Amino acid sequence: MHLWNRRLLQFLVLIGLFLPVAALAQRRDFSIGPVTAAPGTRASGFLEVPARGAEPGTRIPLTIIHGAKAGPVLGLVAGTHGYEYAPIVAMQRFPAKVDAKELAGTIILVHIANMPSFLGRTIYYSPVDNKNLNRVYPGKADGTLSERIAEIITREVIDKSNYVVDLHCGDGNESLRPYSYWMPSGTPEVNAQSREMNITFGLDHIVIDNERSGDPAKSVYTANTAITRGKPAITTETGGIGQVDAESMDLAEAGVFNLLRHFKMLPGEPKRAAHPIWIDQNEVLRAVETGTFHARAKAGSFIAEGGVLGVLTDFFGKTIQEIRAPFSGLILYVVATPPVNQGEPLAMVGRVKKSD
Ligand SMILES: [Zn+2]
Repeated sequence: MHLWNRRLLQFLVLIGLFLPVAALAQRRDFSIGPVTAAPGTRASGFLEVPARGAEPGTRIPLTIIHGAKAGPVLGLVAGTHGYEYAPIVAMQRFPAKVDAKELAGTIILVHIANMPSFLGRTIYYSPVDNKNLNRVYPGKADGTLSERIAEIITREVIDKSNYVVDLHCGDGNESLRPYSYWMPSGTPEVNAQSREMNITFGLDHIVIDNERSGDPAKSVYTANTAITRGKPAITTETGGIGQVDAESMDLAEAGVFNLLRHFKMLPGEPKRAAHPIWIDQNEVLRAVETGTFHARAKAGSFIAEGGVLGVLTDFFGKTIQEIRAPFSGLILYVVATPPVNQGEPLAMVGRVKKSD
């Protein structure tokens, strides 16, 4: 071989050896608002939601874990409902368990989306504007506080992510068995990937929710905001009733690690749900009047059509209505503390899909 040809060959071999490694390395910093992480590091700080008129603002605590290697961006949102503690606390301990030098891609973790509800200890609604943060997406920059929080999370977290997980549990009044939601409201490709995310997260019950709008301007929910913007996403439910129990936290954490392995952001194989139970129909039973609810059934148990889930009484204990299962199925959650306002949920019953 001619010397120059040999040199050229050696040069090409060298490029071939080193280019893939070079391409895998993450080169740029990653920023969300004032928080910036260099490749291979993590950084924490606050997104500020400014006050507007007489209404106060708030802060959204977040952590960026920016991998040393290139890869997708996974957005994790906890505390959309501020009284849903298990995933919030699970995600506080999570960043220390991820080695940014080993990570391929970037994790954006919102620790507490709804700080007013967290510090105010309110279920469902913000104590500032009485709105449910998970009903006002994609939000409004000139709206009320919950709408402004939704707008900033849409812009700074969802729009910068490739995949999104909205981590919930039963609210402070709800006893719940773990499950996740598959919302097939996106393109066939996004729906298929979201379905895989549900199975990969690893919870053994998956609710199929066909009720979500495919219109990005009317996405309403956190995860649906991602889906309608072309990003596969899921909503998970692990824990409830104001508890910070190890079992519920472990489920949330294990699910996130499963997804990191699924997306090849970390090495190893995910532990997928081997035979998930799909719930293809569900009904949330609601209070016809404000009063007192007395649960008569447990989350996670099966109930026959017409079986009594609980009794709604007035404040003197007089029965207003027996709440009965509309069909035979699984009780996904049941309200387990007495106060209820008209229109609020009392229980959710799901029907198990016959075959996949
Ligand atoms: Zn929730």
